[in-house]
Amino acid sequence: MAPYDVIVAGGGPSGATTAFYAAKAGLNVAIIDRSCFPRDKACGGLLTARLLDELPELRPYIEPVIECPSRDVNLYSPSLKHRIDYVFPLGTPWNVRREVFDHALLEAARDAGADVLTETRVTGYQFNGGVKVTTSRGDFRSKMVIGATGPNDMLAGQVRQRRNLNPWNDREMAIALMWEPVVGKEFIDSAFGDNRSLLVHFKPGGIEGFGWVFPKEGRLNIGFGGYKHSMKLVKLREIWKEYISLLKKDGYFPQEHPVPPVKGAPIPLVGPMKATTMDHTLIVGDAAGMVSPLSGEGIYYGMHAGKIAIKTIKNALKTGNFTQAYLDAYHRDWSMVFGNELSDLAFFSRMVLKMPERMVYYGTRDKKLCEIFADLFLGITPGGLGKKKPMARTLFNAVRYPYFGLG
Ligand SMILES: Cc1cc2nc3c(=O)[nH]c(=O)nc-3n(C[C@H](O)[C@H](O)[C@H](O)COP(=O)(O)OP(=O)(O)OC[C@H]3O[C@@H](n4cnc5c(N)ncnc54)[C@H](O)[C@@H]3O)c2cc1C
Repeated sequence: MAPYDVIVAGGGPSGATTAFYAAKAGLNVAIIDRSCFPRDKACGGLLTARLLDELPELRPYIEPVIECPSRDVNLYSPSLKHRIDYVFPLGTPWNVRREVFDHALLEAARDAGADVLTETRVTGYQFNGGVKVTTSRGDFRSKMVIGATGPNDMLAGQVRQRRNLNPWNDREMAIALMWEPVVGKEFIDSAFGDNRSLLVHFKPGGIEGFGWVFPKEGRLNIGFGGYKHSMKLVKLREIWKEYISLLKKDGYFPQEHPVPPVKGAPIPLVGPMKATTMDHTLIVGDAAGMVSPLSGEGIYYGMHAGKIAIKTIKNALKTGNFTQAYLDAYHRDWSMVFGNELSDLAFFSRMVLKMPERMVYYGTRDKKLCEIFADLFLGITPGGLGKKKPMARTLFNAVRYPYFGLG
C-alpha cells in the first residue's frame, strides 16, 4: 500500500481539523482514533466566536451543532460575598456538546477526503526515512505524522526527550471534573433564562481553580478544575457534592435531582511547549499544551493550530524536506498567531488565582476592568491584549478601591 502523505494520530478537534484542511489541500491523509464515534470527552463545551471567524470552511459543520449562545456570566468570589454580573459585549460564547461537536468535525474530515480509522489505537512509531505507525489494527506508513492524542501524546513525549524539555509537573497540569446531567429545558429556561447565563465560582472548596455551570438546551454542563497539586490535597467527591448543594441552594440545580456522577481529565495549563516539531512530526492541540491557562479553553487553539500546520505540511511534501529545522516553520507560525497571547494568559491566570476575592471585588465596581478580562477570556482582540492594559487597570483599581480582605 502506498504511504499516506500524512497520518494524524487522534481524532479530537485538533486532529480532525488538521485532517480536514490537509484533505482539502489535496493531500492523502488518514486520521486514526482509538474511540468509537460519536464519543464523549470531558469538557465544558464552551466555544468562542472567533473559532468560526478563523475557520470559516468548517462553518457548515459547526453551526448546526451549536446548542445555544450564552449572553452573560455571573462570576462569584471564593467567599461568595462579591458577584460580577457581566453581559458579553460581542464575541458571544457558544455551547456545544462534545459528543456531537467532535463527531461533526470527524465527519468534516471524512467528507473532505480523509481516511477515518476509528476504534484503532496508535501504539508506536518508527522513523526510517518516513514513518511507520503501529496500531491495534496493523501498521500504516506515511511521510509525516501529526501528534493530536491529547495531553499524554506519545509523539509529544518524544519531542520533549529530543529537545530536553521537562514533562509537565503538578503545578503546570490541571485536573478538571465534570458531568452533563439532563435537567430539562423547562428548568434551564427558568433558572438560566434566554441568556443561558454562565456561572463561574472561584476556588470552590479552596482548590486553585474554578467551578462552572454552562447551560445547554436540556442539560447543564457542571464542573470544577484546578492545578493538580491543589486537587491532590482535597477530597474531590466531597467538593463535587458541596458544589451541587450550593447550586441547589441558589436554584441552579433541581432540588429533587440526585448528585450526578463525575468524570475527569487532565488539561495542561502552563502554556504551549517550547518545541512542537521533530523530523517528520508536528504536534497540535492539548498534546502541545495549546490551552488558555486562564480559562482552560483549548478547542480554539488546537483547531487553529491544525489549520496553520497545513502550510508547513504542504511545503515539506513539495520539497521533500521533513527535517525538524524545516518543520520548525510551523512552530514559528502558530507562535506568531497566539504564542504571546497564551503566555500573557498564563501570567493573568497566576494573578487572578493569587487574589480572586479582590479581583472579583474590583470587577463589581469597574466595568472597564470586566471588559478587559472578558476580552482576555473571549480572545476578542486578535493576538491578545498584551500585559500592559490589564495590569494598569488592576493597579488603578487597587489604588481607587483599597481592599482589606483576604485574597
Ligand atoms: C473538564 C474539562 C473542561 C474543558 N472545558 C473546555 C471548554 O469549555 N472549552 C474549551 O475550548 N476547552 C475546554 N477544555 C479543553 C478541551 O477539552 C481540550 O483543549 C480539547 O479537547 C483539545 O482537543 P484535542 O483534539 O487536542 O484533544 P482531545 O479532544 O483530547 O482528542 C484526542 C483524541 O485522541 C484520541 N486518542 C488518545 N490516545 C490515542 C491513541 N493512543 N491512539 C489513537 N487515538 C488516541 C482520543 O480518543 C481523542 O479522541 C476542557 C477540558 C476539560 C478536561
